[in-house]
Amino acid sequence: MVQRPGPASSGPLRLVERPLPEPGPGQLRVRVRCCGVCRTDLHLAEGDLPPRRPGVTPGHEVVGTVDALGPGSGRFAPGDRVGVAWLGGTDGRCRFCRRGAENLCLHPTFTGWDVDGGYAQACLVAEDYAYRLPEGLADEQAAPLLCAGIIGYRALRAAAVPPGGSLGIYGFGASAHLTAQLALREGMRVHVLTRGAGNQRLAAELGADSVGPADGRPPELLDGAVLFAPAGELVPVALQALDRGGTLAVAGIWLSRIPALDYDAELFQERTLRSVTANTRADGEQFLALAARHGLRATTVGYSWLEADRALADLAAGRYSGAAVLRVDPA
Ligand SMILES: [Zn+2]
Ligand SMILES: [Zn+2]
Repeated sequence: MVQRPGPASSGPLRLVERPLPEPGPGQLRVRVRCCGVCRTDLHLAEGDLPPRRPGVTPGHEVVGTVDALGPGSGRFAPGDRVGVAWLGGTDGRCRFCRRGAENLCLHPTFTGWDVDGGYAQACLVAEDYAYRLPEGLADEQAAPLLCAGIIGYRALRAAAVPPGGSLGIYGFGASAHLTAQLALREGMRVHVLTRGAGNQRLAAELGADSVGPADGRPPELLDGAVLFAPAGELVPVALQALDRGGTLAVAGIWLSRIPALDYDAELFQERTLRSVTANTRADGEQFLALAARHGLRATTVGYSWLEADRALADLAAGRYSGAAVLRVDPA
């Protein structure tokens, strides 16, 4: 759980013992096998995101096994492998839910922010928000798909690159390295702009058409771009690289301050700047199906769940490329 938010290097997480949670109506209890480490967990642990509940257990890329059903639950059976993701619940009634935009729900529940997540041996999930995972995909491979993958997918669609067009990817962490693979499989030309030799090397290995520094210029104008780095100063840089009519989608839940924009150089000619907020369950289902069809492969770095602090500190310092995954010991 997050004891007191603070720099990842100071170890903001505490290991605590809690009773095994009992699933309520419509819920499943999941024995966690592994849980991906998302930048949102880092924002939460460091206090960029205000805690929504004191002592919450982070983790929203959970792969585990159903081990108990709450009253009325029947979508899954004990023993089934499921995925638990960021969107843990919606009210189903607000004006956004009614129009199919449940990602904007006025009363959402987020896993690992409002309710305890997967940096634990067990967690609860509403069965309607759990995912069946593609078979033939190892647990550690599947975990990063559940947030990094799904949010990247929504951001990719938001960037609205036409068939055969060019996509810019700014920042190259867990989400970007999955999104780049999907964009390439879908026939886009992918230009990666990122810092860090390791990230640049991974982008090249995955087949990016060009790789350069985060504040560099891609070799062609971009039809669309996704900003994955939580760096507001890159917004004008990416907007300047867009072709007429291009869209920059900001994928993160948190972004440092965006500098003043120059209308002519950065927005005119119908360039669009937009954000991406969470995802719908339909996004999740579509992405998991595409990930299976195209054989997307997460590059993962494994940690024991007892080393969650170290994984967060390594993420903060950019000490690995790809996606970190916590391996959780059985109780
Ligand atoms: Zn709603
Ligand atoms: Zn996430």
